[in-house]
Amino acid sequence: MHSMAIVEWGKALQPVDAPNPVPQGTEVLVRVTGCGVCHSDIHIQDGYMDMGGGRKVEYGKVGFKLPHTLGHEIVGEVVALGPQATGSKIGQRYVVFPWIGCGQCEFCKRGDELLCSNGRALGVRANGGYADHVLVPHPKYLVDFSGVNEALAATYACSGLTAYSALRKLAHLGPEETIVIIGAGGVGLSAVMIAPAAVKAKIVVADISDRKRDAALKAGASAVYDNNDKDAVKNLRAATQFGAGAGGAIDFVGAPATAQFGVNALRRGGTMVQVGLAGGDTPFGILTFMQRMLTITGSYVGSLEELKELMALVKAGKITAIPVATKPLKDVNLVLDDMRAGKINGRIVVTP
Ligand SMILES: [Zn+2]
Ligand SMILES: [Zn+2]
Repeated sequence: MHSMAIVEWGKALQPVDAPNPVPQGTEVLVRVTGCGVCHSDIHIQDGYMDMGGGRKVEYGKVGFKLPHTLGHEIVGEVVALGPQATGSKIGQRYVVFPWIGCGQCEFCKRGDELLCSNGRALGVRANGGYADHVLVPHPKYLVDFSGVNEALAATYACSGLTAYSALRKLAHLGPEETIVIIGAGGVGLSAVMIAPAAVKAKIVVADISDRKRDAALKAGASAVYDNNDKDAVKNLRAATQFGAGAGGAIDFVGAPATAQFGVNALRRGGTMVQVGLAGGDTPFGILTFMQRMLTITGSYVGSLEELKELMALVKAGKITAIPVATKPLKDVNLVLDDMRAGKINGRIVVTP
């Protein structure tokens, strides 16, 4: 098995070779045909996350072992099955649901794997898809994508799923309401494209980049705002029902300024969904939430059920495709560098 792995925190990925794993029990060995490169991979490669208030979580100190193979937007072909791996066939191609729990705890047993505190998400805790093969713990994590472009299908396992799950947290808002999407980069832009199939409310977008605002308009946003413009919140609120503010906001950046923008844009009783990983401190006072009866909810990737729902919508042709390009796996470091520099539109999928 050949992979491009983190051998040292904060350094370029390096080629690592090992014998192909032999699937045991319910495990499935998948030959990787593509793996999307996600912004969160950069954080793991860096080796830490900024938790705000000067606190950092260092992956090396919370049980991450090196070498580690990144990559969680995996598509591939089943090539070997463990003796108890029933329900998938050798030669079939699937998208792999990567957000896998321990399988033993009460949360996992009831299907709430995202609540598991001993997760083994592929590419995050377990070895992922920047490789020619990946070991999947159970066939139930393999999702059919027939009729959908293979590289595009891979991106729904994280980028698409994260957007879909965040939107579904605002599915209660009616068509007279407004949802503001903050940050129209990869995941934010796919949220604009998925929104008509997932929520009823009108979608507006806030981004500081002209180029991303244009892309959001082309993708179907009803209006766009430059969050550096000091009148942006006032103008956004004025265009909502009763001029009261947005019923929901989704922060796909996750920085103090974007979180503040979202809270300022909400009406009383509105819901703020935090998704982005930029990190830092919350800029607003605690009483804001009580006085304005706001809800703040974190959204982390999405569930297996949500990936299946999303893939059904994709297969039914209800979701506009994001731009996807492929690059060879050996060039993954160049792709990660371009991502750090903000040079990537849509998604890059690396192929072994
Ligand atoms: Zn991701
Ligand atoms: Zn568990």
